[in-house]
Amino acid sequence: MGDHLFRVPVISRDCPLRFFSLLPLAPAKCKDPARISDQVIKPGQIGGLRSRAPKLCRMADRQVSRAIGGGMIWPAFPGAWPGLAAAVQQFGPACSPGTAPINCLGKAKFSGGRMRFNFVLVTLDCVRPDHLGCYGYRGVETPNLDRMAASGVLYEQALTHAPNTWVAHASLFTGCFPPAHAMRAPQHRISSHLSTMAEWFSSHGWTTAAFPGTTLVGKAQGFNRGFDLFDDQWAGEGLRTDQAIWRRNWKAALGRVKGWMDMAREPFLIWIHYIDTHHLPEPELPEYYRRRFPPGWQYYDGKISHADRACVGEIIDHLGRRGLLERTVMAVFADHGEELCEDDRPLHDGGLREDSVRIPLVLRLPDGMSPGGVRVEEPVGLVDLFPSLCHLAGLSIPQGIQGLVLPGLPGREGALGQGRILYMENWPRGLLGVRSREWKLILRRQDLDDGDEAKSRVEALYHLPTDPGERNDVARKHPAIVEHLQEECLLWAKGPASRSVAQDEEMAIRRALEGLGYL
Ligand SMILES: [Zn+2]
Repeated sequence: MGDHLFRVPVISRDCPLRFFSLLPLAPAKCKDPARISDQVIKPGQIGGLRSRAPKLCRMADRQVSRAIGGGMIWPAFPGAWPGLAAAVQQFGPACSPGTAPINCLGKAKFSGGRMRFNFVLVTLDCVRPDHLGCYGYRGVETPNLDRMAASGVLYEQALTHAPNTWVAHASLFTGCFPPAHAMRAPQHRISSHLSTMAEWFSSHGWTTAAFPGTTLVGKAQGFNRGFDLFDDQWAGEGLRTDQAIWRRNWKAALGRVKGWMDMAREPFLIWIHYIDTHHLPEPELPEYYRRRFPPGWQYYDGKISHADRACVGEIIDHLGRRGLLERTVMAVFADHGEELCEDDRPLHDGGLREDSVRIPLVLRLPDGMSPGGVRVEEPVGLVDLFPSLCHLAGLSIPQGIQGLVLPGLPGREGALGQGRILYMENWPRGLLGVRSREWKLILRRQDLDDGDEAKSRVEALYHLPTDPGERNDVARKHPAIVEHLQEECLLWAKGPASRSVAQDEEMAIRRALEGLGYL
């Protein structure tokens, strides 16, 4: 049996059976999986199928019974397949229709001890935590995220490692700080020495897909590495139709996301980049959100409320309709925050202020594993997601990863420790920094060209509990803390030299940057 995933078809009164879900155990035996995968069979049609395709049904029956031997049972409609009826007998009420299958998962023994969950990662670009209902803000409507937080895990002090879309996502996908992944500017490439999240999960049997929201996280920089599908074939649907698409059409993207999840072989890992929350001069926003929320900061609160429904809610509902929620981990986060300036201008790449580097991070775990509204106070970072997914999947964590398994997850007992220090930088602005639970130190690089961070000088030290607005530089009052944090910061800041993309790719990136208002 090896490492094969044992799966049983999902059959219930209201959920059609997708035939391809019977076949992953023996893909080599299926001569034409593409043809078969298009068929959708409802429970009432199974009798007819038995007479038309007896050989295939016998194979499915064998797989079902082998699956029971492997101990992995999904909710079943007893009687649809003989093997499933046996499964219900074996596992009792926990396996009767409509019950949470995780009850079975908890009892089951898996091949290799692995929990082969699906993973759905959603980036809400530019979203600040203090503009979400689940973080205590009352000026938005975010019921879907609020429900996720109420049943899952919410991180009060989640941080990005750069207030730039491309650098932050490179940290997400490598589990490393910017100096290690070497993606410090949009024209850089992710270090080839590191395994990306998609490469790692793909090599362990996960089907992978990415739906980037802009060419700024594109193939040129290596963001496609490890993804079976990197959906950037969006000609005609973006707001620009030349080589540089700086923002995709969300409705069209959502349709393709759903279509992919319907057909994907499980387990799968999908990354969805929602960019309509980014600052744009003319936000496309349905009338309701324009009327309901103030126009300030380019309808920031209205765009976030719309994202909660049009992105988070749509995806959760779709997973639910397909019966996937019971075995899917979903993480919603931002790549960076936003500085909401007094002149109604949003901006996020100016420095390393908390407004820009603090992000929301909310995890929804499969039913039955749900911890029921855990809120974690410790500082955590985007780098922590990669090792955390490995932890939940029972995979080893690739060497060299700088992130840690997130506290608050099942099987991850205890805190990360008071001394956790997270690195951040704003390379184009010449700033480096570290953030602990209480302190933030910012350094300014003296020479932007030679890469010698040892020449950096102290820009400011802030004590965040007493000065959340970062108004009082207290570096002179606390020389010992400055010395300690500076040493840590400079240790993290050392990394390999960055490699640049090709010249024509750089032009496309430049146009995308212009489109998003960076240049
Ligand atoms: Zn971004």
